[in-house]
Amino acid sequence: TEPLSIADFSKKIGKPITEIVKYFFAHGVMLNQNAILNESQIGELALEFGFDFKKEEVLTKENIFEQLQVEDNPEDLTPRAPIVTIMGHVDHGKTTLLDSMRNSNVVDGEAGGITQAIGAYQVKNKATNKSITFIDTPGHEAFTEMRSRGANATDIVILIVAADDGVKPQTEEAIDHAKQANVPIIVFVNKTDKPGADPEKVKVELMNYGLVAEEFGGDIPFIFGSAKQKIGLEELQETILLIADVLDLKANAKKFASGVVLEAHLDKAKGPVASILVQAGTLNMRDVLVAGPTFGAIKDIENANGLKITSAGPSKPVVIFGLNSVPNAGDKFLVMNDEKMARSIAEAQAEKQLAAERMTKQSFTLDSIKNHI
Ligand code: GDP
Ligand code: MG
Repeated sequence: TEPLSIADFSKKIGKPITEIVKYFFAHGVMLNQNAILNESQIGELALEFGFDFKKEEVLTKENIFEQLQVEDNPEDLTPRAPIVTIMGHVDHGKTTLLDSMRNSNVVDGEAGGITQAIGAYQVKNKATNKSITFIDTPGHEAFTEMRSRGANATDIVILIVAADDGVKPQTEEAIDHAKQANVPIIVFVNKTDKPGADPEKVKVELMNYGLVAEEFGGDIPFIFGSAKQKIGLEELQETILLIADVLDLKANAKKFASGVVLEAHLDKAKGPVASILVQAGTLNMRDVLVAGPTFGAIKDIENANGLKITSAGPSKPVVIFGLNSVPNAGDKFLVMNDEKMARSIAEAQAEKQLAAERMTKQSFTLDSIKNHI
């Protein structure tokens, strides 16, 4: 096959040359538009810009460019579960809401209903049998950090506000983050069971922040309830699913899996353990993937309830075993089923991380970027 330059690549993926040059520059590599890309650089760019590879053939040095999938065939797109993040002020009930929804959903005998800190889980709405994926973001910062790295892992934000406490600093912060992400917001007014709770007051208060309820002429759904007493949870799920219908969320389950790392740690017995969200494609046992600066063949897949499964499609949060080391939260992952390629991409990413750290110390100016394009 023909050697591929940055200019060719830019044309193929429909991104400006400068974005590609900047990507390498930001990681300490100077390349101009005529630079010929090697296969591991192509793999890296696929990871960075959110492309993946077709599944029909084994990837090789020779076919990697043709196998790069920039757009999905519309016929391959099928509905996927909405991905929901709960945000709000500390102690307003995020964890309780997540646990209540999860525990009333865990089937008897499934890991005893113990909440594992895996960063995400999926519930099945009883009335409709449709699934909803909840992401347990460690904080608002993490949410925005993930977004700034291009991992858009949220379709809908639930803003939780305690009815006995009202809008607080972190509520305001959550509103800002949700607005920046440009995703629909549902307000869950919690703790309505408490004496002194005034949910109507919260509704009026939030108008000052541009969150206007339907009855006041806006389009923000407000649900009054109690995470602790399990009140309003059905209504919350119905509302999520209604919005999801409007968003018409779809993904291609037929290709190699790609997505984002939510949490990862080193287990003494099991080695590196990563909690990931599959955003597109289907993940299978023994798939070889690169996740940020790490790579490996999948030895085991577990669902959010700790049960072993053999594959996971779009919107599924799962825990994987088999990576060579521990990736970072927010790292993107991509299956490529080629160990050599995955290794070389992981190594390049690790080097780039180091270079980027050095670079921030040296603080380059924007002008020096321009001079190299
Ligand atoms: P987070 O910091 O937002 O995750 O808040 P938590 O879920 O940890 O809740 C903080 C406290 O509020 C805990 O003691 C909960 O039991 C309590 N809590 C949460 N939801 C409710 C509720 O609906 N009613 C009442 N009365 N207490 C609640
Ligand atoms: Mg909490």
